[in-house]
Amino acid sequence: MTEFARAVVFTAPETFEIQDIPIAEVGPDDMFVAVELGGVDGSELHMFKGELPWFNSRAPIVFGDEIVGRVHSIGMAAAARRGLAVGDRVTIEARWPCNDCRYCASGQYYLCSRNVDGRGYGTITAREMPSLWGGYATHVYVPKEALVYAVPEDLPAKTALVACSTLANGLTWSGVAGAGAGKVIAIIGPGPQGIGCALASVQAGAQVIVIGLAKDRERLAFVERYGAKTLAIAEGESHIDLAKRIRHVFGEIDAVIEAAGYQPAKDLALELVRPTGTIVHVSIPTPIEQPLDWMKMLFKEITLRCPVSHPNMVPTAIALAHDMFKNGVDIGEFISHVFPLERAEDAIHAASYRGDEVPIKVALDPQMRV
Ligand SMILES: [Zn+2]
Repeated sequence: MTEFARAVVFTAPETFEIQDIPIAEVGPDDMFVAVELGGVDGSELHMFKGELPWFNSRAPIVFGDEIVGRVHSIGMAAAARRGLAVGDRVTIEARWPCNDCRYCASGQYYLCSRNVDGRGYGTITAREMPSLWGGYATHVYVPKEALVYAVPEDLPAKTALVACSTLANGLTWSGVAGAGAGKVIAIIGPGPQGIGCALASVQAGAQVIVIGLAKDRERLAFVERYGAKTLAIAEGESHIDLAKRIRHVFGEIDAVIEAAGYQPAKDLALELVRPTGTIVHVSIPTPIEQPLDWMKMLFKEITLRCPVSHPNMVPTAIALAHDMFKNGVDIGEFISHVFPLERAEDAIHAASYRGDEVPIKVALDPQMRV
């Protein structure tokens, strides 16, 4: 008898449909994973609203590229190669390497030159069999090439989900910023990614200050519990005055992680970072083009870095989250809101921080009923 998955399918801009999609017979090299929890990202709102024409043309699409679940069915060869069996707990990375281009060879498979159209979870059309290419569903398909990592049984699903996405990004990006003992790192923008960077920078031994707006107060209070200092600023305050004020308290800032995406954040980052320091740009910029004072970049001898995602970092992130969990610190509490599949649109709006609520991070639970 054919089994069916339930999936949230993007069929056109601003349109999600819940569809029953057959779970195909598993091939020898493949598997299907039953999703425990799928992450929702604020940036998915742009996709949902139809702002990306190349994306619209791929509809129908099952969204979702942050996935924690259990092996539902697995081919013989996949089971042998991956050392996995039905029921094992796993997380699957959004993209996978071709292992045949210079970027994959160097470890940055998010820039794979054979994957120029961004194939991966949440972006492959559901017209391509077996259709289940996203985490907004009860089940996802896992091809031979996909990167799959074991998740400890005692780690809550929320904790694993934060580890494989937000914390993995934070570890990668704070590493690029040079976070470590004796370093002072400023992070602008206390969204999930900024909070992940703060947590990772604190863990690396850096002194960390997270800068947000007055409306971010709850998020700033949250990140203080993880050992970061915070500063709530008024919108419109001059970046020059602000930078002076921050330096007066914290001294020279070795690196600034710009996780807000707005022009004032760029201006503040450039003013705040010390000469020969590093600015790490990790935000989705709004608007996409923003001027930068290149003269100041030159005369402060600034290094500008733009790391993409978190290649090869998920196992480290899961191990760190597991250690912290065993020591009584559960980063699963980053996930403040969980929605059923039927409310995927509400989940995206919540995650994009545009509703009335102030979530930290949002997830979909396919087993949750409306
Ligand atoms: Zn490649």
